[in-house]
Amino acid sequence: AVQVHGVHKWYGAHRVLDGVELTVRPGEVTVILGPSGSGKSTLLRVINHLEKPEVGYVSVNGEPIGIHRHGERLKELSERVILGQRSRIGFVFQNFNLFPHLTALDNVAAAPLATGKLTKPKAQELAHELLGRVGLADKVGAYPRQLSGGQQQRVAIARALALRPGVILFDEPTSALDPELVGEVLAVIKDLATSGTTLIIVTHEIAFAREVADRIVFIDEGRIVEQGPPTEVLDHPQHERTRGFLSKVL
Ligand code: ATP
Ligand code: MG
Repeated sequence: AVQVHGVHKWYGAHRVLDGVELTVRPGEVTVILGPSGSGKSTLLRVINHLEKPEVGYVSVNGEPIGIHRHGERLKELSERVILGQRSRIGFVFQNFNLFPHLTALDNVAAAPLATGKLTKPKAQELAHELLGRVGLADKVGAYPRQLSGGQQQRVAIARALALRPGVILFDEPTSALDPELVGEVLAVIKDLATSGTTLIIVTHEIAFAREVADRIVFIDEGRIVEQGPPTEVLDHPQHERTRGFLSKVL
């Protein structure tokens, strides 16, 4: 399980996360909704330890990320250990973030190679398999600039899968895509969702959220305002802020 324990995050005097508690069980798909600036990306970045919370911490399968207990106190782990922990958490960004000078195959093979997890032939074999899984078997030799946005994002998903992470975080994975390319990327994420991968997805695609989410978490001003199954949160929101948000996006 991914657990967020009492996380507070400030940027200067601005409190961006305000006591977030969240548990995502293995195989569960959680969709995070909320207005712009509410702290959604920051929460994902805290989960992946790209940002350090001032208060609280995150654990994955019971193991705190970035810190360890030293008697009564929490101590920071070394950057090396944190990198190892981070490789168990996949991250798919809005803007793909592929290496422009590497082919699709090498983009996917790069991570297990760099971490020394696989030999080059094994990493390439895995990359072939994963690119096939996201429907890009015929694009293994293409460079990012030769691919559409939807194809690039599917390479990015294959790359996230290559480290066999326990959970994959998606930050608005389709918001940089032309409308006609959104469906192919959502189809790949849906396939992961139904195959039991633990996913945490920030998206504004409400129909998609309704379809794939086990749980929807609505966040506003750095706080979880409400959470529950899609039928509850989307159809019977309990809070005025959730209602206000949904009336704008539905
Ligand atoms: P959006 O839907 O627009 O992506 P979001 O919910 O993802 O919004 P965040 O990106 O988490 O929001 O930002 C939350 C708040 O924190 C915003 O007010 C933002 O300006 C601020 N913020 C984010 N990153 C930083 C930073 N590195 N330094 C200072 N302030 C930041
Ligand atoms: Mg964001």
